[in-house]
Amino acid sequence: MSADRSKFVVVGAGLAGAATAWQLATAGHEVTVLERGVPADSAGSSHGSARIFRYAYPSVAYTRMVVRSWDLWRELEESSRTQLITPSGALDFGAGREPALLAGVLEHVGIDHELLAPAEASHRWPQFEFDSSVLWHPGAGVIDAETSVEAMISLASTQGARLFTGWEMSGIDRVGHGYMLHNRAGEEIHADRVVITAGGWLPSLLGRLSLPADFLAQVPALQVLQEQAYHFPYRDRAAPWPTFIHKDEVIGAYGLPGGRDASYQGQKVAEYCGGRAIPSAGHQDGRVDPANRDRIVAYVERHLPGLVPEPYAETTCVFTNTPTEDFVLDRYDGITLVSPCSGHGAKFAPLIGSLAANAAAASSVEAGRNLIPPEFLLPHRPAHHEEGAW
Ligand SMILES: Cc1cc2nc3c(=O)[nH]c(=O)nc-3n(C[C@H](O)[C@H](O)[C@H](O)COP(=O)(O)OP(=O)(O)OC[C@H]3O[C@@H](n4cnc5c(N)ncnc54)[C@H](O)[C@@H]3O)c2cc1C
Repeated sequence: MSADRSKFVVVGAGLAGAATAWQLATAGHEVTVLERGVPADSAGSSHGSARIFRYAYPSVAYTRMVVRSWDLWRELEESSRTQLITPSGALDFGAGREPALLAGVLEHVGIDHELLAPAEASHRWPQFEFDSSVLWHPGAGVIDAETSVEAMISLASTQGARLFTGWEMSGIDRVGHGYMLHNRAGEEIHADRVVITAGGWLPSLLGRLSLPADFLAQVPALQVLQEQAYHFPYRDRAAPWPTFIHKDEVIGAYGLPGGRDASYQGQKVAEYCGGRAIPSAGHQDGRVDPANRDRIVAYVERHLPGLVPEPYAETTCVFTNTPTEDFVLDRYDGITLVSPCSGHGAKFAPLIGSLAANAAAASSVEAGRNLIPPEFLLPHRPAHHEEGAW
């Protein structure tokens, strides 16, 4: 039986894969998406209705990338005729969050913001108990992650892309000038170029991608965490709730309107990187740690008086962290490796898709790598590796 063929194959249909497929298909390329489950799979990182879109980063480079990403979100919303980001504004507070530093970056990049004293902020948002100065920036919002994946897959399909669901790639072999991808059912698909966007499954896949050891040695350690999030009811459902990130010496916490996931009745609150480490996303057990739940309930009692401190819904999900929280995006031969995780990748999804698609489609590896922000590239590419002139 001859194998299926596609010029480009994208492995994984979360936010990163869907965005890459959308961009490749829009540029007129033949593309097939392989997804082990379904797009925005519930075991991955891109399901549900609530991710924070914010500009506040301690790095000018990242804030500038949010600006670039925002333009692509608008393009996506217009093309799909769907609202994907609901404006909410965002608050950053707590000494560990360094609101003044973040304000300096927003000032530098020209993003509308205010740095408020705690009393002034408490007057405006009585549903919070503030312990430091507070950064407010009104341009933030809440991304509907799952609808965004569906929108990008749908636009890609309209441009001719194919989606194979329930197709779990188990390995890649180098074949001539291309690659043969296979699954455990014995199915194969041949690709000239491959983009790997496998989220938290990447650690278990890395050794099966036909990438040389010296390239793999440059990939930063990927830590996969089974995270937990809780939905707390609003005391006053009419009060406008922004997203927030709070960090003090005790905890790093974040929250946002839960939207559809929580029947629009509450705020999603979680500890950042409060979950247990697992070898890869395939090792999730979906169990909430009662100690973590207690910690977040105590947090809500202390810092969020506008919420009833009794969660009415809870969930687990998967973070994939690099030590620096920088994303990974690099290309070796015809394989482009993408890992935009670290708990903050959703807002960059269309930009990541654009960068990955352009890097993968570039005529040479060097030309492709030149399109990628230096923060994302692997640090020291081996000097002797041989890469074809794509
Ligand atoms: C709880 C939570 C809260 C977050 N909050 C924010 C936030 O507030 N703001 C923000 O910007 N970001 C946030 N993020 C981060 C953001 O959601 C992720 O960066 C993003 O979803 C990662 O997308 P991905 O496509 O890389 O991974 P995933 O969404 O996990 O997609 C990977 C896909 O690949 C598939 N796959 C894996 N292996 C294979 C294989 N071998 N063959 C075929 N398919 C395969 C999987 O089934 C999956 O669908 C959050 C993440 C989580 C989990």
